[in-house]
Amino acid sequence: MQPLQEFVQDCANVTYLCPAEVVNTQYQKDIVAIDIKVADQLWTVKSKLLIAADGARSPIRQAAGIKTSGWKYWQSCIVAFVKPEKPHNNTAYERFWSSGPFAILPLPGNRCRIVWTAPHEEAKALCALDDEQFLRELTRRYGDQMGKLELLGDRFVFQVQLMQSDRYVLPRLALIGDAAHNCHPVGGQGLNLGIRDAAALAQVIQTAHQAGKDIGDIQILKGYERWRKLENLTILGFTDLLDRMFSNNFLPVVLVRRLGLWFLQRVPVLKVFMLKLMIGLKGRTPELAKR
Ligand SMILES: Cc1cc2nc3c(=O)[nH]c(=O)nc-3n(C[C@H](O)[C@H](O)[C@H](O)COP(=O)(O)OP(=O)(O)OC[C@H]3O[C@@H](n4cnc5c(N)ncnc54)[C@H](O)[C@@H]3O)c2cc1C
Repeated sequence: MQPLQEFVQDCANVTYLCPAEVVNTQYQKDIVAIDIKVADQLWTVKSKLLIAADGARSPIRQAAGIKTSGWKYWQSCIVAFVKPEKPHNNTAYERFWSSGPFAILPLPGNRCRIVWTAPHEEAKALCALDDEQFLRELTRRYGDQMGKLELLGDRFVFQVQLMQSDRYVLPRLALIGDAAHNCHPVGGQGLNLGIRDAAALAQVIQTAHQAGKDIGDIQILKGYERWRKLENLTILGFTDLLDRMFSNNFLPVVLVRRLGLWFLQRVPVLKVFMLKLMIGLKGRTPELAKR
């Protein structure tokens, strides 16, 4: 296989059309024609392959008629940005309340992103609070480890869902990231999965291209689907299990959870296995991801 460095240089001649909106796609035998609106102009790009990374609602997936399976959770997720008084020391915290997990994630410039999961009504009510009330509620639940928190910008509420596309590929089309799957934000896995999809697809395409094969051929693309679909499903199932186990006050579940955590602390092999699973080192790791 060509060394990665050379391959990246080969691909350096990229034209970006941005911001832009894909408004129409036409799949033909040898190419896909993509109509893109850039400012007020319409461009038609012809390609061997269209890679859809257009998010959970993926208009490209819907237009291609690919169905999805899954469910909406009983929780919504509030996202907000804060500046803590004390340094965050690049440490992420996740707390598990029966209403849902709460995470505070470090960002550059001593800012943090809050990902706060709560039942729909509670999330709506929290979002409707004024800034001062919201910060008071946040501090009451989270504590004051980071000192006083300052709210930066608006808060957003997202519906949380588990979704897996029935197919990741069709002739001349591949779905990656949230266009292909969504998971509960517990454990912060969504972006990681998308990056691994992109790295795996890049490897499949590179191998096909170097062998002189058509990169949009369904047989080639199925190699990507076989590689990623099951691995993603495993993580989707794992995040679902985490949410069900931790967003719960039912005594038998609490006991199983405590026992599980006790085992994790005392059986290092199990702990390392779980960590590797979460950071994508289980299963087949794409070459790009190894670097
Ligand atoms: C509340 C919440 C908290 C999360 N927390 C974490 C976390 O802590 N860690 C983690 O790893 N993941 C987290 N995730 C998941 C993570 O945000 C997503 O998995 C990730 O952003 C998916 O990236 P993506 O590029 O596939 O899709 P997106 O980020 O949704 O990007 C899709 C892009 O496509 C564009 N687009 C859509 N339609 C068109 C079109 N027709 N033409 C052109 N462009 C189009 C959109 O404008 C958008 O820019 C969280 C998600 C949510 C909702």
